[in-house]
Amino acid sequence: MYQDYQKYLAKIIEEIKDNGLYKNERVIVSPQGAEIELDTGQKVLNFCANNYLGLSNNPGLIEAAKSALDDHGYGMSSVRFICGTTDLHKELETKIAKFFCTEDTILYAACFDANGGVFEPLLTEDDAVISDSLNHASIIDGVRLCKAVRYRYENADTEDLEKQLKLARAQRFRLIVTDGVFSMDGNVAPLRKIIDLANKYDAMVMVDESHSAGVVGESGRGVTELFNVMGQVEIITGTLGKAFGGAIGGFTTGKKEIIEILRQRSRPYLFSNSIPPLVAAAGIKMVDLMTDTNELQDKLHRNSGYFISRMTALGFDIKPTKSAICAVMLYDAKLSQEFAAKLLNEGIYVIGFYYPVVAKGKARIRVQLSAAHEIEHLDKAIRAFDKIGKEMGVIK
Ligand SMILES: *Cc1c(COP(=O)(O)O)cnc(C)c1O
Repeated sequence: MYQDYQKYLAKIIEEIKDNGLYKNERVIVSPQGAEIELDTGQKVLNFCANNYLGLSNNPGLIEAAKSALDDHGYGMSSVRFICGTTDLHKELETKIAKFFCTEDTILYAACFDANGGVFEPLLTEDDAVISDSLNHASIIDGVRLCKAVRYRYENADTEDLEKQLKLARAQRFRLIVTDGVFSMDGNVAPLRKIIDLANKYDAMVMVDESHSAGVVGESGRGVTELFNVMGQVEIITGTLGKAFGGAIGGFTTGKKEIIEILRQRSRPYLFSNSIPPLVAAAGIKMVDLMTDTNELQDKLHRNSGYFISRMTALGFDIKPTKSAICAVMLYDAKLSQEFAAKLLNEGIYVIGFYYPVVAKGKARIRVQLSAAHEIEHLDKAIRAFDKIGKEMGVIK
């Protein structure tokens, strides 16, 4: 049979290529950081990692991981409830709960799993999920796996949310779910208003802090901190794979009975391996670091502010952002690809996004700022944007 199937796949691959949607992966041969080396020998400045705090190659985290490797070994060879729980897993869970002012935490192999495993154990066909239209793929998949009635509201649109909440009064329990920061525009969810509506219509709230934890809020505690509503949402999910060290791992943190049910019933937790002790140890170090000092967030915020003000002054059209994501709007898909390619020639690594990743006619280059960047790095990127922008007639 495989011959026919092979032809079928080849045709699909051809179509992906014809539509210009084929993804090629660049190969990095250095550690992740502000400056990276590609297998072509080219050294480039990295403006497309989720390494918001520069922790991917932080000496303190590396040291903590190495020492856990020595005293806890490499792998767990087990899921948590059989023999995959170490003191490090428990300590990290407690620390994450303390950091977000929640009651308890459950770790997963990834936030994709946290989101994939959160809805199905908690909600039945009698209940409702009200989900932002731009929520992450893992939330969409997680919602698909549960039997609750689904409602969708326009991105960050609280008027539409209210309409959906009125409809959802037909169900028993209601859960509103939103990303904290949306990855393409860098806008934040209007959490204060969402919570007000949840109170008015008797609903619960879940926020995915993957792009916001470590970035948004005075001390990096995410959108609940930004809107001064810490402890007021029932469920927070997040990743250890972005600002929080960048390795692997996810978590759900929130009300203790919710976490307790997830430990009993959440399928990606029950049927998938626990994170290696070295990742848990580096996670503990990360939370300690974030609790002790604001140095990295402060630097990140300074960097984002600097970059955005310079780019705006040059005449670039920048989407309003409250995060470390800066969308440089170019609108045209082909232009976004050519612009990104020319920037790479200048030693600046960014990605151009276009339909279907973003809306039609809304192509852009997404720049992600990091505490790993120094002013020289930012200046080099700004000079390159200036040069290519003028060359391509985007700015005057
Ligand atoms: C990146 C991301 C995830 C997935 O996180 P992983 O830990 O890499 O699986 C989930 N939700 C949102 C909003 C994200 O941005």
